[in-house]
Amino acid sequence: MTDTTLAVPSLSELVDPSAERAYELDRRHVFHSWSAQAQIKPMVVTRAEGSYVWDGDGNRLLDFTSQLVFTNMGHQHPRIVRAIQEQAAELCTVAPGYVNAARSEAARLIASHTPDGLDKVFFTNGGADANEHAIRMARLHTGRTKVLSTYRSYHGGTHLAVNVTGDPRRWASDNGSTGTVHFFGPFLYRSAFHATTEAEECERALAHLEQVVTLEGPGTIAAIVLESIPGTAGIMIPPPGYLAGVRALCDQHGIVLIADEVMAGFGRAGKWFAIEHAEGVVPDLLTFAKGVNSGYVPMGGVAINEEIAATFDDRVYPGGLTYSGHPLASAAAVATIRAMEDESVVEHAAALGEDVFAPRLAELAGAHDWIGEVRGTGAFWAIELVSDPSTREPLAPYGGSSDAMNSIVAGCKKRGLLPFVNYNRIHLVPPLNTAAELVEEAIGTLGEAIAEASASA
Ligand code: PLP
Repeated sequence: MTDTTLAVPSLSELVDPSAERAYELDRRHVFHSWSAQAQIKPMVVTRAEGSYVWDGDGNRLLDFTSQLVFTNMGHQHPRIVRAIQEQAAELCTVAPGYVNAARSEAARLIASHTPDGLDKVFFTNGGADANEHAIRMARLHTGRTKVLSTYRSYHGGTHLAVNVTGDPRRWASDNGSTGTVHFFGPFLYRSAFHATTEAEECERALAHLEQVVTLEGPGTIAAIVLESIPGTAGIMIPPPGYLAGVRALCDQHGIVLIADEVMAGFGRAGKWFAIEHAEGVVPDLLTFAKGVNSGYVPMGGVAINEEIAATFDDRVYPGGLTYSGHPLASAAAVATIRAMEDESVVEHAAALGEDVFAPRLAELAGAHDWIGEVRGTGAFWAIELVSDPSTREPLAPYGGSSDAMNSIVAGCKKRGLLPFVNYNRIHLVPPLNTAAELVEEAIGTLGEAIAEASASA
């Protein structure tokens, strides 16, 4: 029983907020993701607001990472904070088998924005388990096991999700026996098909996929899993017609199309979901996480079409999670989506892409030899850095880093900008509600950092 005679201590009485103590305890007890533990010096974040974070030394940094591309509404958005506080005061948690008002409303709001027909939502804890469950649903629905996905992709760090992943994070855990097969998606700048135009890349990438499907045996393939716009792998916008071609191939062979919108969804690409850029293309399953509630409380999910949902009307769906549709995460999702609607955040992200990122990054590319290509849409942009624009030699090897990339990042940080780095790329992925002037400022800062690093290379 709770002893009500004891005073309720404040959080600051329980946690020493000093940066020094936080760092010391972290290094002693916290085991970090994707890291050689002895070789990292993680940055302490003591405070964050809107598009800014403050480090342990009190420096303010413009957060152009949205952390791991999830704080779509920026840090400490008052409407989301309030919803979490009020939900916590009323009912912190219930098991997934019970009905909860915040969860019901979150599902309604999500379904109101997903493409037509994706009206049922299965909630998970994040993106990897959303993909795991989408694949399980596809396998049970089709009675087939194989799953196809692209090499340049990321679908999550759990066992199956990391095997479906195409990027180097798969290698250490790749058992090659979980029924996953990789193919080349379209990427004109580094075309696997010797294409020279978007139309050629599209046609050849589709012909390649068709061949993979034929050679793997269409009747053995449960699903094709695709990021609607591959994110961490490089923000490669699919050429017009590609997703429609994949949809047609899936229809022809009864293959389930799973659109992974974990990173690209919820406004990041200037539409509620990135797949809307391919007009008329509707996936059978759509996975989401991150932006659904700006990552304030862990949440992911699968939006399910009628046909697949009906498979489990009278047949048990053999899967579930203790925290599926957690009330705190659901309350954060409701507040996030309502604030996105009321503040026209998706429209703002689209305008940032067209009016600021596209023209300013084109100028930047014109001014620096190290920039091989800039590409993106909405608040979702990548800069491909190369040591030689004619050979397109990456400035850091695939799966690795380099002194040149490290010095660009150090130059950005020194000037108060936190960039998202992946191998030879810098991604500019700020909160969707970042002001246009801050985007201009960040691109200016990046230009200075590139100029400084290339001058001393
Ligand atoms: N899918 C995509 C496209 C992602 O970008 C990510 C994470 O970055 C995931 C899945 C995995 O999500 P989580 O880390 O929440 O499991």
